[in-house]
Amino acid sequence: MKPNIVVVGSSNTDLVVQVPHFPSPGETVLGDGFIMAHGGKGANQAVAAARLGAQVTFVSSLGRDSFGGLAMKAYQAEGIITEFIQIDNKAPSGVALILVDPKGENEIAVASGANFTLTAADVEQAEPAIQSADCVLLQLETPLPTVEAAVALAKKHEVPVILNPAPARSLPNSLLRSIDVLTPNETEAEMLGLVGSDQPDIAARMRQLGIETVVMTMGGRGALLVRDGEQQQIPAFPTSAVDTTAAGDAFNGALAVAIASGRPLKDAVRFANAAGAFAASSAGAQSSLPMLDDVNGLISN
Ligand code: ADP
Repeated sequence: MKPNIVVVGSSNTDLVVQVPHFPSPGETVLGDGFIMAHGGKGANQAVAAARLGAQVTFVSSLGRDSFGGLAMKAYQAEGIITEFIQIDNKAPSGVALILVDPKGENEIAVASGANFTLTAADVEQAEPAIQSADCVLLQLETPLPTVEAAVALAKKHEVPVILNPAPARSLPNSLLRSIDVLTPNETEAEMLGLVGSDQPDIAARMRQLGIETVVMTMGGRGALLVRDGEQQQIPAFPTSAVDTTAAGDAFNGALAVAIASGRPLKDAVRFANAAGAFAASSAGAQSSLPMLDDVNGLISN
């Protein structure tokens, strides 16, 4: 049987323009390349998990507009269950306007739109899906009460919860204590007070905060697994990184699939490292997310 995962999170449309230089205030710059792509951390992680063989229910919110319509079709084409994607009559679909200069630097403006109208009540409608899930996967691009509602339902039904605390922000202790596996990158771990010059011992800090398990992603250095006071570095798969966009999303989607399949955590992190490395080795966000054969191929090599 397929592992069954509920992802609660954001959906955006990325509008990317290549510019010769970033415009100054009042200036118009003529760019020569345009790409439109589906994005948002929630959507990326839902697609990642679906491509790796999970049955994914995506709980999200789109506007009643053309971007929302296209996103919905794309998720259905990935085999994702879209029953609990809300269509907001007022707010527009989330959009990220991205300028990229010849050096590969970017400037990004995000209009969260309908992502910020996903409510706790919307999540509660998805309770039957959460109840029958093997794992619930969350990020922080939707309102905090929405995230908290999803965690509460998962706890009620004893379903393990993975929280990818991205983008970086501080979080209430009550929420951190309810998470089974927290997956910050190094910046997010610092923001949560888990690591940093004044926090030399991550395991001690986790005990203080009541956090059970942390899997900290560390780019080309792989991931650090910390639980029961013990730390284990799980190395990355070597790759000539081309574009690390969505590497973290590939990692989280894969980790959820492995945990939902009942794999031991260390093995799950290795599987997630392979998915992250695959995404880092090709350009784009959702376009770089691997299929199950890609990840297994990388592991068996
Ligand atoms: P984020 O993109 O959220 O900041 P990271 O950069 O830590 O997250 O990357 C997530 C995971 O993707 C890493 O833990 C690792 O498994 C994989 N990864 C990222 N960059 C590379 C790389 N250069 N080489 C191999 N694996 C990578």
